[in-house]
Amino acid sequence: MLKEWLVSREAECHYLRRWRSVVMVISRYLFFIHSPRVTIESMVKTFRPDPHFHAETNYYVATQNQALSLPSLAGAHHADVCIIGAGLTGLNAAIELRQRGYDVVVLEAETVAWGGSGRNGGQCLVGYCLGLRELHETYGPSWGKQLWDLSVEAVDIVRERIQTHQIDCDFQSGYIELALNVSQQKELQSWYALKQGEYQYPVAQWWDKTQVAAVAQTDRYLGGLYDPNSAHLHTLNYTLGLAQAATLMGVKIYENTPATALVKGQPHCVKTQRGQVHAPQVLLACNAYLEGLDRQAQAKVLPVASFIAVTEPLGERMPITNRMAMSDLNNCLDYFRPTADGRLLFGGVNHPFNREYKDSAQRLHQRMTKVFPQLSTVKMDYHWGGMFAVTRSYMPHIDHLGNDVYTAHGYTGHGVGLTNIAGRVIAEAMDGQASRFDVFSHLKQGWIPTPKVLRSPALALAIWKAKLEDLLG
Ligand SMILES: Cc1cc2nc3c(=O)[nH]c(=O)nc-3n(C[C@H](O)[C@H](O)[C@H](O)COP(=O)(O)OP(=O)(O)OC[C@H]3O[C@@H](n4cnc5c(N)ncnc54)[C@H](O)[C@@H]3O)c2cc1C
Repeated sequence: MLKEWLVSREAECHYLRRWRSVVMVISRYLFFIHSPRVTIESMVKTFRPDPHFHAETNYYVATQNQALSLPSLAGAHHADVCIIGAGLTGLNAAIELRQRGYDVVVLEAETVAWGGSGRNGGQCLVGYCLGLRELHETYGPSWGKQLWDLSVEAVDIVRERIQTHQIDCDFQSGYIELALNVSQQKELQSWYALKQGEYQYPVAQWWDKTQVAAVAQTDRYLGGLYDPNSAHLHTLNYTLGLAQAATLMGVKIYENTPATALVKGQPHCVKTQRGQVHAPQVLLACNAYLEGLDRQAQAKVLPVASFIAVTEPLGERMPITNRMAMSDLNNCLDYFRPTADGRLLFGGVNHPFNREYKDSAQRLHQRMTKVFPQLSTVKMDYHWGGMFAVTRSYMPHIDHLGNDVYTAHGYTGHGVGLTNIAGRVIAEAMDGQASRFDVFSHLKQGWIPTPKVLRSPALALAIWKAKLEDLLG
């Protein structure tokens, strides 16, 4: 009834289509939480879903160029630093610490890069989830510029590591952030002005609709902010390359070794199923998979399940001719890029209850054909998902939790680049030079409830609020 009424009035009001969508979203939401199939109990039960998320159809796994086989830990060990988690954060910190002469042990619950680091979209970006104008207004010109410069350094580190350690990971420069509507266009142009001015980043370029369409066959976007310095890469091969480099440098990495408890003391004792590590300094590098080890850290991040699909090889049909990565400016955004073997990787679907979408490939196909209608008959060869962690500030949580226990997580979709600088500033802080670390640790982070019964609805509300904002432009 409501729908018919709205449809009949649609011609009368220019804005009604938008409001109809808003009403639909709200009514779907109300229906969803009152549906007998979705009880609070089932939401809690599924909050920690099968974390493999179609790992068997992960494009990166199918095209990985090396397999590491590292031992699990048994017995008592001593180190200067114990790092929990062998993703990009843990491995970058391990390399930086080893370069400073520290004896480092890394514990990984599964295998190296099993988490977001082996599953993400591969977009390696300068900047943060918090847009540049808001960064500037929230933290002021001086702090804002320091944060910006650290994010530039993050991507420089990626280039440096690839070169130093000869990591074969399809690194490709070039990225554009795109405007879907006039307000996004204004927002991006305000970032462009800041980059050209106070942020001294002259490489940024404003591209209008025609310039975008010349290298990406779509007329969906009004224009975009191009950054030749941001890039994309094969994230699993990059992370495996870091692990191999760390091992050659003398870092001891143990796979299939979940840390089961952190007993604080001097030194701290990190317990595992068959042993323990005694270390005066500890880094929690578990991102969205941190659970139970430290409530203080956990209260700053919310895990989100997110999905990606990869097409069959496109040959001449590849719509992005300059090989750049792309994303729009929505909160619940679409992001996509060509792979080295001529496919299109397309990501952007999140699940409001952190469950697995059985039809994630179809959902992503639908979204892809909105951007590139000419790809409607293209098949998705791969699809998978993973968890990333968001913060309320949209800035990473890189902090000292007291007693020489550190954490770095919550990159809010920007971890491929930012984990590299996180590893560096944490190593500096552990080595007694905390000035750059404090540029991050002084950021205010909002609290997120840790009881699971509250986390699941908090995530659903956050996602729906974000979608509503996208709809309202
Ligand atoms: C689908 C998806 C798409 C994404 N796309 C992008 C993108 O395009 N660009 C971008 O910048 N970012 C993206 N991200 C985010 C990015 O992947 C993360 O920010 C980044 O990988 C974080 O690295 P990490 O090392 O901190 O965490 P992870 O890579 O998640 O590693 C954490 C590790 O800790 C281990 N662990 C957890 N608990 C324990 C324990 N108790 N004991 C031992 N080990 C433990 C886990 O097994 C895991 O291997 C995406 C994420 C996802 C899921």
